Amino acid sequence: MSDIAIVGAGPAGLLTALRLHQRGITPTLYESVAELRPLGVGVDIKTVGTAELDDLGLLDKFRAVSVDAEDSIFFNGFGQEIYAEKCGVHMGYLHEQRFVHRGTLQMLFYDEVLERLGRDAVVLGARVTGYRQDADGVTLDIEHRDGRREEVRHDAVIAADGIKSAVRRQMHPDQAEPYFSGITMWRGTTLREPFRGGHTILHIGDPAVSSMIVYPIAQDFEGTGLDLINWVVETNGEETIEDWNQIGDITDVIPLYDDVKIPFLDVQQLMRDAREVYLFPLIRHEPLDGWVDGRVVLLGDAAHAMFPRGGNGITQAMIDARVLVEQLATHPDDPHAAFVAYDGIRREIVNRIAVNMQGEGYEVIRRIVAERTDHRPFDDIEQVLPLAEADEIFSRYHALVGSPRPGHDAGEATGFRTWERVGA
Ligand SMILES: Cc1cc2nc3c(=O)[nH]c(=O)nc-3n(C[C@H](O)[C@H](O)[C@H](O)COP(=O)(O)OP(=O)(O)OC[C@H]3O[C@@H](n4cnc5c(N)ncnc54)[C@H](O)[C@@H]3O)c2cc1C
Repeated sequence: MSDIAIVGAGPAGLLTALRLHQRGITPTLYESVAELRPLGVGVDIKTVGTAELDDLGLLDKFRAVSVDAEDSIFFNGFGQEIYAEKCGVHMGYLHEQRFVHRGTLQMLFYDEVLERLGRDAVVLGARVTGYRQDADGVTLDIEHRDGRREEVRHDAVIAADGIKSAVRRQMHPDQAEPYFSGITMWRGTTLREPFRGGHTILHIGDPAVSSMIVYPIAQDFEGTGLDLINWVVETNGEETIEDWNQIGDITDVIPLYDDVKIPFLDVQQLMRDAREVYLFPLIRHEPLDGWVDGRVVLLGDAAHAMFPRGGNGITQAMIDARVLVEQLATHPDDPHAAFVAYDGIRREIVNRIAVNMQGEGYEVIRRIVAERTDHRPFDDIEQVLPLAEADEIFSRYHALVGSPRPGHDAGEATGFRTWERVGA
């Protein structure tokens, strides 16, 4: 089988195209936007994601545009340190965890698809509006930017058309409508001097009030000598449309950080100096009970729209792509069998991660500390949240998302507090 269509040229669709090409298949991608541009802010690529890029021969190019994550530090609502852990190879994993601009990564994948598959592989300005199928193949309905409508025919279809997937809507018309979680996320980037050497991710705040994540996504950004810093703030907000490009205003949120005093970073200034701010409502999509309809299959955000926390959306999409293409190679004449096998391997695991992301994940430690201290500063963190207890929480989480902590089963302590570690 060689004639496959991919709906959507986001990171998931492009990566799937590269995986298919590795197996000698050149798919056709249909993408609704007329021009791909490097949109979005930061994403955190976990070690399993970096392993996927290594396997695709993209590691050097990826390293050139991203930042190695060395450590991760958690603070309460007063800027007091709760816990820290090393990241990626610094923790003993085989691959690095890296931070990158989502748009830069997408463009890297896009350029690679054009180079490896040829320019004809991607049809831009082509919005898929629906599909029909019979025993031999699938017909896609396409609406072009100029209003022209077209029907195209393929052996099988992989839908990677994101959180508002038209294919998912057709496949699951009865699926409950997604609903607003009550949490709004402001995402921004700021240019500034590197903090703590330029390789640290910070998790800040009392979640009952607000949560903030900060990490660098580019060094010497556009030759300025400065880091491009990505930051995300979550707090209760009004419902708005689920649109990645919605412009936000951070002014009302900044005072929530009046009490946060972190020695090496003024987080309020960071927000005030933003180059761009986007608003994104956290919408709950319930897990789907199937990703396959005959010769059509869902992948990436179309299959498992997640809260954009912890880099799981993009990393899980990369794993989807590999597993799906492996199954197509195993069942070369039966795409339905391949899709069902992929669904069997991936769906339950990813649904579990998606549900976990709707909760607190390992960020629960900030809530535990806030509750145990009655939302006040503490004197001795070990009396509030012992290192061993925090370690246990983190080890469970890392195992859940498919990267068990090296050394944990051998009983090694993996977390620390930076002031207790020389050079940490
Ligand atoms: C503009 C944008 C900005 C984002 N910014 C961030 C961010 O800052 N942080 C973060 O964590 N995640 C962000 N994401 C989401 C992130 O890209 C995904 O969670 C993850 O990479 C999985 O990607 P995906 O390819 O499944 O989905 P997406 O990245 O959403 O890509 C889906 C693609 O399908 C195309 N498409 C949609 N409908 C159709 C259709 N009917 N026909 C044809 N093509 C269609 C879209 O234009 C898009 O290119 C963003 C997504 C987008 C689209």
